[in-house]
Parts: sequence; C-alpha cells; structure tokens
Amino acid sequence: MLLEYKKRCSCCREYGGKDGCGFCIRRVARDGLSSTCRKCKSIYEKIYRKNNREKIKKYRALYRKNDWERAKERYNSDAEYRLKVKAKVSKYYHKNKEAVKVIHAIRYRDALTNSYVAQQIIQGSGIIKAEDVTPEMIELKRELLTFHRLKRRLSDGINSTRD
Ligand SMILES: [Zn+2]
Repeated sequence: MLLEYKKRCSCCREYGGKDGCGFCIRRVARDGLSSTCRKCKSIYEKIYRKNNREKIKKYRALYRKNDWERAKERYNSDAEYRLKVKAKVSKYYHKNKEAVKVIHAIRYRDALTNSYVAQQIIQGSGIIKAEDVTPEMIELKRELLTFHRLKRRLSDGINSTRD
C-alpha cells in the first residue's frame, strides 16, 4: 500500500495517481502495478475503445465463435454435458413457450420471399400479371399468408393430442 502512494503516474505525474486513485495490479510489471493510475488508465481505455470499435467487434465475434466451437465439440463428445444442455434447453422452452412461438412465427414470415409471394398473387387472381404486382400488394399478401399459416398451425396445435 505504501508503494502505491510513493509511485508516480507516468501519465498525470501525480504521486499515488490522480486524486489519489491508486494503481491497478499488473503482474508482469516489476513492482506489480500498472504504470498509469486508475483514472488515467480509464481515460486511455475509453479513447482506445472509441478509436478501435471495429477491431474490438471483430475480436469479440471471434471469441464468441471459438466459444461456440468448443461448446459444440464438448456437446458431441461428453454425454453428461449433452444431457445437461438438453435439460437446460427444454426448461428454457417450457418457460418461454409464448416467446418461442412468436420467434417461430417471425421466422416463418421471413421465409416468404418476395418472388414466392408475388407468385401467390398471380396464381390466386388469375388476371394479375407479374408486371402489375406492386411492393404494397406483396406486403399485403405476405400478411395474409402469414395469418392463414399461423391460424392453421394454431388449429393443428389444438387438434393434435399432446400431453
Ligand atoms: Zn494518472
């Protein structure tokens, strides 16, 4: 502790750091402390984050990907872990049934591509030509298709004897 108060920050040149904020631990340093005080370090880090957003984003994405790969590997090789994950997923599903349903509905709608929906309009009317189809018509038809599909899925869910 005494060392912290004798130490001078390499950035603000204040003993014990700016307003006596002290120093972070840095194991590789000779005295085990960072050469800049806590306050200077936090200012530096803020600027670094602002200037290196893309770099940080890429690093995080890579880290997440590696994490995912590791988890996948373990899932395939570790039976106990596999059971644990499966239990967790099923618990999540039961706890968030409604949210999962909504997510599935959105994915379903997204699968309705513009060309598919346009085709549905043309086939359904018998008189509308491909060049007459407007984006507004596609949007409206997509809503209708989603609604009908959802209705069908819901009635299927009610009719099927689960539990
Ligand atoms: Zn400082």
